[in-house]
Amino acid sequence: MKIELLNTPADALESRFEEQIRPLRMDDFAGQQRLTDNLNVFISAARKRGDALDHVLLSGPPGLGKTTLAHIIAAEMGCSIKATSGPLLDKAGNLAGLLTGLQKGDVLFIDEIHRLPPAVEEYLYSAMEDFRIDIMLDSGPSARAVQLRIEPFTLVGATTRSGLLTSPLRARFGITSRFDYYAPELLEQIIVRASGILGIGIEREAAAEIAGRSRGTPRIANRLLRRARDFAQVADAPVITRFIARTTLERLEIDEEGLDDMDKRIMDTIVNKFSGGPVGAASLAVSVGEEQDTIEEVYEPYLIQAGYISRTPRGRIATRRALLRFSLPGSPASDAPLFDSLP
Ligand code: ADP
Repeated sequence: MKIELLNTPADALESRFEEQIRPLRMDDFAGQQRLTDNLNVFISAARKRGDALDHVLLSGPPGLGKTTLAHIIAAEMGCSIKATSGPLLDKAGNLAGLLTGLQKGDVLFIDEIHRLPPAVEEYLYSAMEDFRIDIMLDSGPSARAVQLRIEPFTLVGATTRSGLLTSPLRARFGITSRFDYYAPELLEQIIVRASGILGIGIEREAAAEIAGRSRGTPRIANRLLRRARDFAQVADAPVITRFIARTTLERLEIDEEGLDDMDKRIMDTIVNKFSGGPVGAASLAVSVGEEQDTIEEVYEPYLIQAGYISRTPRGRIATRRALLRFSLPGSPASDAPLFDSLP
C-alpha cells in the first residue's frame, strides 16, 4: 500500500510516533465495534463485486481513530490512499490534480472536510457522483471546460463537526459513521499494544490508570503512555509501574477524570465567572484565551459527555454536577435556588 501524506502536521515528532503505533489492519483496530463490523461487510461486498467502496464519512471528536480507519479501509481494499485536508485544498485545481492521479478503488482521504472552500466542495460533487470532473482549458474569453472521466474511487471524509457539513455534500456519502469515545477497558488494550510496539513493559494497573484518565481518546492515551515511558526511562525502570503512571499523571496535572488545565479553566469560567451560564462559545473562548473552534471541537464534547456542561439554545450552562465540583465558596453559582433549577 502506498501512502502519500500531503499535510504537514505541526508536531512532527508526535505524528511520527502516531505513525509508528497506528494499527494497519481492521483486526488491530480496537473498539467502535458496530462501525467496523458494518464496514467489514461493505468492504467484502465491494471487493466481491470488484467495485470501489462507496464514499465514507467518519465523524467524531479528534484522536478517536478516523485517520487510522481511513488508512485501514485502503489496506483492506488492497488499494492506495492519498491524504489531504479541507483547508489545504484551497483551489479546485489542486483537487483535480489529486483526482486524476487516482487508480480504480483508491481512497482519497480528506480530513476536516467541513472546512473545504465552497467552490472546491462543489467541484467534488460530480467527481463523487459520476466520476467526472470539469477541467478548464485556457482562461479569459477563450476559456472552455472539458469533461474528464476519472477512475471510480472512494472518498473518505473525516470531520470533527458533522453539523457544519452542507446537506448536498453529506447526501453524497453512502456510508456515514460516527465515532464514540472509548471505554477505559479498550483504551487499556490500546495502551498495552502500543507499549509492546514501543518496546517497554507496562503493568496492567499502570495501563488502567492511564486509560482512566485519557478522556476516552486513544491519541491522549498514547501521548500519556509516551510521557510515562519518559519517566520510566529516566528512573531506569524497565517497566512502567502503577507508581510511575500515577507520578506521570500527577506531574502533568491530569486529574482522576482526565480533566486537564484547560478543562478546569473552562469549567471555572462558566461556573464562577458566568454564574453557571448560559454563556456563548465566543465569550467563553475570549475568557479562557483559547480558539473558539478548539473549545467546540476538542474540549466541549468531552465535558458534555462527562456531564459537566449542557448545551442550550442560549448557550452553555453548567450542570449540577459541575456546580458541586467547581463552584468556589461564595460565588453566585453556589446559591441554592439557582442550583435547584439546574439539570
Ligand atoms: P483522528 O483522525 O480521529 O484524529 P487518529 O486516527 O489520528 O485520530 O488516531 C490517533 C492515534 O490514536 C493514532 O496514533 C492511533 O494509533 C491511535 N488509535 C486511534 N484509534 C485506535 C484504535 N481503535 N485502536 C488502536 N489505536 C487507535
